[in-house]
Amino acid sequence: MLKDRISKLKGYGPKKEKSLNRLGVVTIEDLIEYYPRGYENRDNPLDMDNFDSDKKYYIQARVEKILDNGPYSNNFKLRVKWNNRIINVMFFNNKKYYVNKFSIGDEYFFYGKFSREYNQMIHPEFVKCDDKKAADFFGILPLYPLTEGISNNDVIKGVKQALDNIVPESLPKGTIERNRLLDRKEALKNIHFPKSPQQFKAAKYRIIFEEFLRLHMGLMLINKSSDVKEATEFQYIQEIDKYIDMLPFQLTDSQMKVKEEIFSDMCSLKSMNRLLQGDVGSGKTIVAFLSMILSVLNGYQAVMMVPTEVLAVQHYESFMELFGKSFEVALLTSSSKKKKQIYEEIKRGEIKIVIGTHALIQDDLEFHNLGYVVTDEQHRFGVKQRKNLVEKGRAPDILIMSATPIPRTLSLVLYSDVDISTIDTLPKGRKKIVTSYVNNKNLENMYKLIYDQIRFGRQCYFVYPLIEDSELVDMKSLEQGYKELKESILKEFNIEMLHGKMKNDEKTEVMGRFSRKETDILVSTTVIEVGVNVPNATVMVIENTDRFGLAQLHQLRGRVGRSEFQSYCFLLSESSSKISKERIKTMVNTNDGFVIAQKDLELRGPGDIVGLRQHGVPDMKMGDLFKHREILLKAKEEAEYVMENNEVGDLSGVVDKFYQEFSI
Ligand code: ADP
Ligand code: MG
Repeated sequence: MLKDRISKLKGYGPKKEKSLNRLGVVTIEDLIEYYPRGYENRDNPLDMDNFDSDKKYYIQARVEKILDNGPYSNNFKLRVKWNNRIINVMFFNNKKYYVNKFSIGDEYFFYGKFSREYNQMIHPEFVKCDDKKAADFFGILPLYPLTEGISNNDVIKGVKQALDNIVPESLPKGTIERNRLLDRKEALKNIHFPKSPQQFKAAKYRIIFEEFLRLHMGLMLINKSSDVKEATEFQYIQEIDKYIDMLPFQLTDSQMKVKEEIFSDMCSLKSMNRLLQGDVGSGKTIVAFLSMILSVLNGYQAVMMVPTEVLAVQHYESFMELFGKSFEVALLTSSSKKKKQIYEEIKRGEIKIVIGTHALIQDDLEFHNLGYVVTDEQHRFGVKQRKNLVEKGRAPDILIMSATPIPRTLSLVLYSDVDISTIDTLPKGRKKIVTSYVNNKNLENMYKLIYDQIRFGRQCYFVYPLIEDSELVDMKSLEQGYKELKESILKEFNIEMLHGKMKNDEKTEVMGRFSRKETDILVSTTVIEVGVNVPNATVMVIENTDRFGLAQLHQLRGRVGRSEFQSYCFLLSESSSKISKERIKTMVNTNDGFVIAQKDLELRGPGDIVGLRQHGVPDMKMGDLFKHREILLKAKEEAEYVMENNEVGDLSGVVDKFYQEFSI
């Protein structure tokens, strides 16, 4: 039975079971889905005129002589005849074991590397030619990821037994026929023990196809709006212009363009599901605010969910500053006081606009008539969290915002039914942030520049990485840095610390003092990474740069350069690792978020696509969104077909499993 534990298999005692559990293999089904990391092809005979000393080959040879290196050596050597040549076969260690395995005159297959220098094959695997197992010795051998206590052979033996079970089909018949896929058992067999390159290819195709199909189906089910079909109805209301006129600046052309796109989508008959992209500092927030106001003018409540408390407070305050007199607005986070009262006012519909954190998806929060949902920095939320919020309305229009440009392939998958609006220019007068690499040698110059900047009335951030979530180490380097500043030429300025260990109220106060310019320097952990907006700050110092990924560095740098003042970003690093240098070089050379996202992808490798997990996508074992683009598209067509023709029934189990995994 596939659901049985692997200890049911012959030869799998408690020790091996434990080792395999460590690799995530618990049931027999896990084992058949434990795919090889590669293969060894034993079909290549040794050719003296053309071989690679790093590769393995096989020979068929007769034992001529058994050599003994004497009592002090534990090695074991044979002299064999192969193709009329005499060569040596050398085994290391464990002489006792080998002595009894060979007899003079018998023929064996040996498989290993060959050294021309010593005229010998080195520690090969072998089988006697007339042995029953000789056939298994050839062909393509799977190589599995291993751990202590489990050998490749153990896995092979287990998988072979596991494949003797009945393996039920997991895809609908129609899907298999339409796409000419191998059936599941055949595919699994060929993934582990390929019979031919063609069969192997077909097997791999089938398995990747299934992974992608689940992905598409899961996404489609999640994105499918609830039973209510009719969209929330909005109308373009002229009064909105009044609020645009209230802004202390003119919207950029780019902002105007996306605002129009969003408004006309809101006012159309279909539900809006739109992604608003724009580099850090491009001014997404204000566009979102205006669209929220349009919703309220239409009589609907609007909500904005953001990933951190600091950001929620900031958005709330800037909304209040701009439009606070005109609307009832609430801030809702886990540390909000008078929550009960706020809940009631939201439920009665008195509060029209709510800005908050994850606290918004609490079960007991109900809206009167939620018509519009915005999520800022959407990559910080799981798909399911977003859905939970959306379900608090009947069929609200949805706007998600992101500064992390999503690679095309990925957006195709994740946002297939999402329209995209892009703000592609920064507000006028913004200067390129001057970015430099700093080590001990030019540290002093950096301090001088900061000194001058603050003297001119500007402000500065020092950011320290969180070290593997260990608050302790984090505190130590942060406090150390703070102390050093207090002793540097910057000591005459107001310096404050901000970190994750502080209470939310404290954080808000520290942030508040920094925004009001009561502090000059903020020494902080990455709490400030997303969204924080203090336009007067012009210097960003990033300590231990190598601890940050590129996307994160770009986000951090984006905290400055938010005004017409020239801004600076200093990357401190003592690391000489190649990847660290590469990152710094990229940062120094470009301010363009899209270029940086591409580079990030290259440096991380597609295995870790801008944190696929971050986007809420469960791991795939074989499918790679970048390498297997064609299969991805085919699977998408199939998923659409299945959904339209209501064949989901057959797949519901598959999708359920996927759905559970999807809710990070
Ligand atoms: P992001 O797109 O990174 O979320 P914000 O919305 O926080 O950026 O905007 C960055 C800063 O630019 C804010 O201080 C905002 O008030 C300001 N801003 C937005 N639009 C304009 C504009 N058209 N002209 C001048 N400043 C603007
Ligand atoms: Mg923002």
